[in-house]
Amino acid sequence: MTSQRTRMRMVERLRNQGIADENVLSVMGSVPRHLFVEEALASRAYEDVALPINYGQTISSPWVVARMCELLRDGSSLENVLEVGTGCGYQTVVLAQLARQVCSIERIGPLLTRTRIRLHKLQIRNIYLKHADGLLGLPEAGPFDGIIMAAVTTFIPAALLEQLTVGGRIVFPKGTQKQNLCVIERNAQGYTETTLEEVNFVPIVPGVVKS
Ligand code: SAH
Repeated sequence: MTSQRTRMRMVERLRNQGIADENVLSVMGSVPRHLFVEEALASRAYEDVALPINYGQTISSPWVVARMCELLRDGSSLENVLEVGTGCGYQTVVLAQLARQVCSIERIGPLLTRTRIRLHKLQIRNIYLKHADGLLGLPEAGPFDGIIMAAVTTFIPAALLEQLTVGGRIVFPKGTQKQNLCVIERNAQGYTETTLEEVNFVPIVPGVVKS
């Protein structure tokens, strides 16, 4: 139930659900998603659902991860990506195979500690994790050609907009009750925003949780 065949079935389902980026599909066919959830939930890891990862948070469903990565890439390779909301680290690892470097920020300390151990075991070297409030971004590691938010918000703070390269994009869920995926692109003139599919995310929360 956690085998390569199960992963391939997930990839086929994603394809049928409209995911067209072959690079994203190929990466999702290789990352062992069951290692990112509790053992008791491992057999459900490849279903198209969000699953609990403790501390009131959830691992995003495979379709959501695939769609956000596809929108972030927009067909080209990524250089320096910022992820806000590391959670269990699954999306972080997928992004790390689509970008040269991924910086990921998580506000809940104990959740990040567990993710650090998991990523250390997987020996992925191009991920930089930080325990901080992602709403402030990570100016010391920017600018970023891609920023992904894994929690819903009503607006993108100026600090994050400023850390985006010209030509870069932010992919995030926007809303309150009704939420949609949104893409903000930065061009020489300013920023444009596109609203896409309806989604369902946990909310972004300011500040950090230490223990
Ligand atoms: N991609 C993750 C999603 C986890 S849920 C996964 O699939 O596991 C969203 C995550 O965003 C939670 O872990 C939550 O703690 C985190 N989060 C919420 N607000 C945040 C903030 N201001 N800064 C950093 N992380 C935040």
